[in-house]
Amino acid sequence: MKENKIYFVDVTNRDGVQTSRLGLAKLEKTIINLMLNDMGITQSEFGFPTTKHEINYLNGNLELVERGAINRTKLSGWMRGIAEDVELSFKNVPKLKNVNLSQSTSEQMIHGKYLGKKTPEDIIAMTQEAVKCAVSKGAEIIGVNAEDASRSDIEFLIKYAKAAKNAGAQRFRYCDTLGYEDPQTTYDRIYRIAKETDMSIELHFHNDLGMAVGCSVMGAKAAIDAGVDAYINTAINGMGERAGNADLVSCLLAILKSAGFQDKYQIDPNIDLSKAWQLAKYTSYAFGVPIPMNQPAVGDNAFAHESGIHADGALKDRRNYELYDFEELGRGEPEIIETGRMITTGEYGGIKGFRNVYNNLELEFKDEHEARNILELVRYANVHTQKPLTSSELRFIYHYPDIAAKVMTVEPYYEPQGAIKERVETTKAPKNII
Ligand SMILES: [Zn+2]
Repeated sequence: MKENKIYFVDVTNRDGVQTSRLGLAKLEKTIINLMLNDMGITQSEFGFPTTKHEINYLNGNLELVERGAINRTKLSGWMRGIAEDVELSFKNVPKLKNVNLSQSTSEQMIHGKYLGKKTPEDIIAMTQEAVKCAVSKGAEIIGVNAEDASRSDIEFLIKYAKAAKNAGAQRFRYCDTLGYEDPQTTYDRIYRIAKETDMSIELHFHNDLGMAVGCSVMGAKAAIDAGVDAYINTAINGMGERAGNADLVSCLLAILKSAGFQDKYQIDPNIDLSKAWQLAKYTSYAFGVPIPMNQPAVGDNAFAHESGIHADGALKDRRNYELYDFEELGRGEPEIIETGRMITTGEYGGIKGFRNVYNNLELEFKDEHEARNILELVRYANVHTQKPLTSSELRFIYHYPDIAAKVMTVEPYYEPQGAIKERVETTKAPKNII
């Protein structure tokens, strides 16, 4: 068994929410952080500290860390690899401890995005300045992200990683932004980068060619074989931009159960696979995206058998047709679905129905003020998510009402000046508003 380990950085709350036409409410992002923590996932890239509407959510979640509610999963923020962004991030989110700083490293992107205004040397200089700024702010884990790494010159990637390391970064993120990479090429390139830089490597793969999981685990294997730790970037249910990111549960299972990895490579020992089912189901609900029937491990058909030979074989001995057990994923408990009268609580709910819902969760209110206050928060939470609230959400609001209030508070940025001021002050109604 190799000594270095494969750790997991879930990016659902960063890459997942960047996905076109999909998103999560701040309360939902918070519940996902709590569930990732419950599952013992190493790290959650929990959002964008330079983005105004994230500020209360990010600070609220860091308070959950201080209060011990998130005590295993490290929360990390993502930003561009420029000192100005790092400065702003720590101003907005002062208790931030872990960061990922991103710069484009391929010729295509350096030319195609900066339009001749930046050279590869500028990219290195900006990154070093950003890393030094993060060090000066007290950041504990600093990773540098090479955007479009799979289309970048490997010599440049090594130079970029070493320069970041010299400035104080500990990790290098190989970001396959377009999903261009294949597992063999990944292995070869990651092995070389790991050997030359001696830095922990983060593997960030997209699924445009259907190889995100394969590339992630082969990249991790290369890092471990080269003698450094690996950090696989995943998203729950493979969410993420375009065809998505590497699926969290699939990557875990690939390492724990596949022919070439089982008993040879170690994952973060804190990870508890039995929480996978709950996490996958909640995330599916929060995004409003069903889990595909044939999704590994958590799809409806992952343990279903019908054809004669398979059903007979699975009944005689599950190992005939099942590689792993549904119980390992937290599946198999009966789930109660109310088919008669149902009382719910929501944005227009009253105190009686609300009390009934909380009684069923076995949570009590000591006085009327407490009940009324939590009812108000529950109403707001429903305004905020626009979906029936789940028991995890209702429990969270009960136990951390102040943080719930904080993460749900978003103040729109609006400064009445100049053209906007003139427009809002005019009394003439414009045509064609709708
Ligand atoms: Zn990505």
